[in-house]
This record gives sequence, C-alpha cells and structure tokens, in this order.
Amino acid sequence: MPEFSAIKTAHLVWEEGSPRNTDFDDRYFASEGGLEETSYVFIGQNRLSERMALAPSFTVAETGFGTGLNFLATLDTWVRCAPADAQLNFISVELNPLSKADLERALSAWPLLADYAHALLQVYPPAMPGYHRVLLQEGRVSLTLMLGDAVHMFSQLEASVDAWFLDGFAPSKNPGMWTEALFRQVSRLSRPGATFATFTAAGHVRRALESVGFTVSKFEGFGRKREMLCGEMRQPLVSTSAAPWYSPPSPISRESRQAVVVGAGVAGMVMAHTLADRGWNVTVCERAAQIAQEASGNPAGIVLPRLTLDMNLEAQFYVSAFLTAARFYGRLQKRFPAFQWRARGVLQLLDEARTRRIGALGLPTEVVEVLDQAAAQHIVGLSCASGGLFFPSGGWLDPRLLCTLLREDAAPRITLRTACNVQRLEHINGEWRLIDDTGETIAHAPVVVLANGYSANRFDLCRWLPLTPVRGQLSYLPVTETSSRLKVAVCYEGYVIPGEGGRHYVGATYDTRDLSLAVRRADHEHNLSALRMRLPDFTAVDAGGLDGRVALRTSTEDHLPCIGPVPDERYYLEHYADLSDGKPANLYPPAAYHPGLFVSVGHGSRGLTSSWLAAEMIAAQIDGGVAPVPRDMAQMLHPGRFLVRRLKRNE
Ligand code: SAM
Repeated sequence: MPEFSAIKTAHLVWEEGSPRNTDFDDRYFASEGGLEETSYVFIGQNRLSERMALAPSFTVAETGFGTGLNFLATLDTWVRCAPADAQLNFISVELNPLSKADLERALSAWPLLADYAHALLQVYPPAMPGYHRVLLQEGRVSLTLMLGDAVHMFSQLEASVDAWFLDGFAPSKNPGMWTEALFRQVSRLSRPGATFATFTAAGHVRRALESVGFTVSKFEGFGRKREMLCGEMRQPLVSTSAAPWYSPPSPISRESRQAVVVGAGVAGMVMAHTLADRGWNVTVCERAAQIAQEASGNPAGIVLPRLTLDMNLEAQFYVSAFLTAARFYGRLQKRFPAFQWRARGVLQLLDEARTRRIGALGLPTEVVEVLDQAAAQHIVGLSCASGGLFFPSGGWLDPRLLCTLLREDAAPRITLRTACNVQRLEHINGEWRLIDDTGETIAHAPVVVLANGYSANRFDLCRWLPLTPVRGQLSYLPVTETSSRLKVAVCYEGYVIPGEGGRHYVGATYDTRDLSLAVRRADHEHNLSALRMRLPDFTAVDAGGLDGRVALRTSTEDHLPCIGPVPDERYYLEHYADLSDGKPANLYPPAAYHPGLFVSVGHGSRGLTSSWLAAEMIAAQIDGGVAPVPRDMAQMLHPGRFLVRRLKRNE
C-alpha cells in the first residue's frame, strides 16, 4: 500500500472566464465552445445518446474530472435519452481537484447545466485521497470520484466500463498520465465493445490503445484541432490478480431483484434500504419482536471516523464510510424532519503529540479540524483535559428511530418480518431458503445478506467466521446546569452526548468475558470516571441510582467489519491448501462463493458509521456494479480473509 499523502487542490488562473491550471500550464476547457467540444468529442464519438437510450445501466469512465463539465454534459445527455428507470454510473479520477469555490466559478460558464452544477456542488467531496461515491438524481446516478493518481486509482477499481473519456491535459504537457500502465487498466476495466474517445491524435496514444485491444479510428478534431481518436474494445486484457482468493463474485441476474436480509439492526436496515433504493424488494427477517432490539437499540449513537497517525487503509475506510454515512443522514433528515440527526460535530480528545501528528497529515478541514485545548473547550462548552480532533460533519442520532425511518422511507419495497428466527439456510435451484426452528420456510430469494451480528456464524456455512459478542454498558446521566453547556458529542476512551430529554448518554464499557445483559453499578462507575477524567466539569454522582442499557455488539478477530461475499469454505480449504508454501498467486484459481450469500457484520461500536459504505459495497458486488472502495480496502474487509490467514499460517 502506498503511503498516505494529502491531496493538493488545483492552482488556477482565470483567462476570460476559462480556468487554466498553472502546474500543467493547460486549460480545462475553452470558454468558447467548451461544451460543444465535450458534446462533439466525448459524447458524440462514444455515441452516448443512442446507446444510453437502450441501456438499463450505463457506465462511463473518465481520466481527469477537472471542472466536472464532461460529467454534467453526460448527465444531461443521459437524462434526455435514457429510460426512466435506468442507472448511470460515472467514474472519474482527479489528482488535483478544484476547490469548491473554483468549481462553482468554472461551472457558472454553462447556464444550460446550472441545475446539474448546483446538484454536483451539494455533494462535491472534500479533498481527501481515495474513492468518493456520491449519488444524484434520487440515487439513479452514481458518481465515483477517485482522488489520486490515475494509474494507481484505476488499478484499484472493480467496474465494467461501457465508454471512456480519455481527457486529461495534453499528452505533451502531462506525459505522466498517458502511459501504457494507464491504458492497460483502461483495457482491463472495459466491457467487450466498450468505446473510447479522446481529443488527442498523438501517435503514441493511438499505438498504446491498439496494443491493449482497441480498434482505433481518426476523426476530424474539434475547432482548431486537426484530428481526434475514437474506437472500440475488441478484447480486453485479462487481469492477473495478486490475490485470486478475493476475486469478486459473479454478478446475480438483475431480473428477479428479490433479496432477504437477516437482522433488523442498523447494518441490516441500511442494507435493505440500499437495495430497495436500487429497485430490489427486500424481506428483512428479525428474530426479536421489534426492529433494532440489540446493539442498535441504544437510545443514541455517534457518527465519526477513526483516524490513525499514518492514516492507514483502515483509517481511510472509516473516513470514507463516515463521509458516506453523514451524507445519507443529511438526506434522511431532509425527508424526515422528525429524524433527530444532530450534525453538530464530534470532538475526539487526544493528547498533544498525537493531535499534532494527525494535524501534520494535511487532511481537509471539512473532514477534521485540529484543535488545541482552548479551541476544544470553546467548541465543547466545558473544560477539556486536552485538545483533539473536531469532525464538523459528525454528529449523533437515535439508532432505533433511524431503523424505523429507513423502513418507512423504503416502503413498500421493504417487508419486515419480526419474531422470525432463521435456523438454517438451504440453497436449492438458485434460490436461498431460510428455514425456521419448526422446519418451515420463512422466506426465499436468490440473494441473502446476513446482518445479524455475532449470530451470523450460527449458520453452518459461516461457522468459521470469528465473530465475538462484546458487552457494552451505557450510562444515563441526568443533565445539570453545568453539563447542559455541552454542545457537541465528545469521544475519548468512552463518549458523552449532549443532554436531551434531561439525560446525557455516557458510554460505553467493553467486555468480552461477561456477556450478561444486567446493568452493573461497577460499569457505571467505569463510564463516569473516564468521563470526569476528560471533562472535569461533570460532577460526581452516585452511580447506584443511574439507569443504563447493556447490549452486545459484534467484533471480529482483527476488529474490522466483515463485508462481502461468503466464501465456500470447502473450496478454499481444497484449492488454497498450500498457501503457506509461497507459490505465485497467479497459479491459483479465482475464489468460489456461496452464490448470492453476503455478510455485513462485525461493525463493533461503529455501525452507524460503517454500515452505509458496507451496504454500497455489497450492492455493487451483487449486481457487478462499480465498487465504491478500492480493491485493497475491499480485500481488507473481505470475509475470506480469516480463512486465507489461517491457510497462510498453515493452521
Ligand atoms: N474532464 C475535465 C472537465 O470536464 O472539466 C477536464 C479535464 S482537464 C483537461 C485534465 C484533468 O486531469 C485535470 O483536472 C488534472 O488535474 C487531471 N490530471 C492530470 N494528471 C493526472 C493524473 N496523473 N491523475 C489524475 N488526474 C490527473
């Protein structure tokens, strides 16, 4: 994994309303005719209007997002031509994104696209390296914007592309982008018959495209450019995976669109909602009598990422998941004013040395602000033992209410079946049957997602999943005059949430040995002493008189969630038996899975943050869509990692 490095936004100068990038010394578009050039070169030569009219789902990928003009023009074409229930996926990459202010200024040149530009500005991601998945047009359009170098970002992508826009500054000014390594990725990601168009006619570009399997034709160029290139993919290069045991599952046919989710907690309801948004009918089976009864039944929970000093892949996952989740909660709040998404920010208290090191990473302030003690106290409203990290778009919410509203929002596509205890899974004629303790079939569908936490490995096919229940006790602390000054949620080893309804919620203990659901005085004392150490304005109270709640969350061996297809254990044990020998990876066959069976479990105490991205990942794996996270991140979370590790250790 390459080292984490911050993203630099583009340096621009403006020439008659047209932005020029000073590092590359090239223009993004001509102020006169920029939109016409996009229409002629990229949209016209890829024949997007006629192809989109026939496609239930269409995927465009671009090199160089720049001002987003190509994206907006494509969106406009798709809205005018595509069938009403179609899906558009637009993938782009950008090394130096425009600041939001520059983007707004650049796009103001195109009044015809003003509505789309406005929608893009609402979801334009912060300059955080990695993949960003945002949705527009009620979720029918997905934009996957990968911030980083094109070759690396595309080498991490799982997608099947129908049309390519090879943009990017002129090859002479930006040779680092127009490389054979990039074209190999373009080929790998193309469907047979995929097309490309590019404004350049440079000989080395033409030869490189031919060498990776495209037929290439020259056409008259736009404006003063004499010639341009376009063409069609005959035979895509086949990728050799460095980890065939994590290869993506085969997509499930889009025809029936019936799925079952087991578990009506946050992970399950978010999964069901995500599938329902994509047109699936989902039955949610829940063993309890009501929605969100276990860990998701806590009265409040916090949404924040988990950063590390080196911003490793794990931290990148949590940032990405956090941004995804916060966007969804914002959307849900707009639709349901009663949803109390308190997006007031979350402060994580941290010692000075660590705060300084994270500050030096140069993360965008839209994601995290580094605060000294005085600034932290100002934001929190109470004395703090230290400064720390402030996440301005973080917040807290009521998970039970969330689950209820998700169901309401997606009705009638979600059917909730409570008091329904799935005992067994059987796969018969391409369908899963979920069978209860009396032997009755409760539900059946080609796709099943297990989101039932530590109970997921009760099913035979998942017995090997190392899931652990972890007891957590929450303390309900009465609000005092002083404590009512707390303005944002604060995290340390525990956390405290600003008072509402006369209570603060103070969490939470972590115990893997005692799994009792009884509320314990000693645990209250633990929560309160951690709180008072970090926020000394909280006064001592008698823990004996406090209310609280205990729940069991689910953790895994490596404390990361388990997200993805369920491997066929027997196949793994047979075909990857000699993994410890160090044989080259390309000599192994691709993975085999139980078709249509997925898990989203092990979210620990971070499910409100991680469930949305998890659901997007699984939804893309189900129908072979564009993965919302890079390959290495999907592999880090892949359920098969536990089997592979054991085989590599020869256990
Ligand atoms: N398609 C854009 C639009 O619609 O506005 C215009 C793209 S502009 C001509 C080229 C873009 O490619 C710039 O935004 C530049 O920062 C980006 N770029 C250049 N080299 C890159 C690289 N190696 N990786 C990713 N992006 C790169």
